[in-house]
Amino acid sequence: MWWSCCTSKGDAKELLRRWMSLQHHITGVHRWEENGTEYRCFHQDLSAEEQRTKRWLKGNSPAFKALQAMIVDTRLIKDLQQMTLFKHTGQLEVFHNALLKYCPKRLHFQYPSMKARTMLAIMDHNENHSTKREQATTAAGLTRHNVVFEKQSKQWIARPIYVKTTQKFRDDLMDRLIQRRLDPTIRFKDASSRIQIPRLAANIALQTKPSKEEVLQSHTSRFKGPSEPL
Ligand SMILES: [Zn+2]
Repeated sequence: MWWSCCTSKGDAKELLRRWMSLQHHITGVHRWEENGTEYRCFHQDLSAEEQRTKRWLKGNSPAFKALQAMIVDTRLIKDLQQMTLFKHTGQLEVFHNALLKYCPKRLHFQYPSMKARTMLAIMDHNENHSTKREQATTAAGLTRHNVVFEKQSKQWIARPIYVKTTQKFRDDLMDRLIQRRLDPTIRFKDASSRIQIPRLAANIALQTKPSKEEVLQSHTSRFKGPSEPL
């Protein structure tokens, strides 16, 4: 039931078809015909050995009849069609989007890079997933929504707008990186990576900062007209 609901992508007919296919599968039938159309199970073909050793139900047994009565129960089928909005994969899809930001599919990464990028995607996701992020509000304090047409359910739905994502984990990461580099007790295995992090000055200027008045004075003197003596 779980599989039928989560793999039918919001299509009620497909959901029922998958659910009903159970009647065939449990008797060891993996290809069948219905109203002139041939259907088959989604699992891989079973080997002759697997087909022989699995304990299929016999089509005319009381056990099969009892289970079949449950599968085709009209009330259950009616309820099942409401399951097209079944969304337990939502958070996973959100994570996959975060992953695509760090590991775009059109680029090829070596293993260490892929691993690091996946870790970044996880940290980003953990900082921003919707159960942690608050819903954005209007100036009047009402929660904000977008009304969008959802392809899966073919319905207009109100999708909550969340506050903007943050990437604070990057700051923490950089801080910890620098702290680790500055720590004289940590020895790096890779000799080539023994870089020293210089203590950075507050700016890149070579002279000390003059006062604003001094700067303004020199600025105006530089733009004096050519007829005036410098
Ligand atoms: Zn099957």
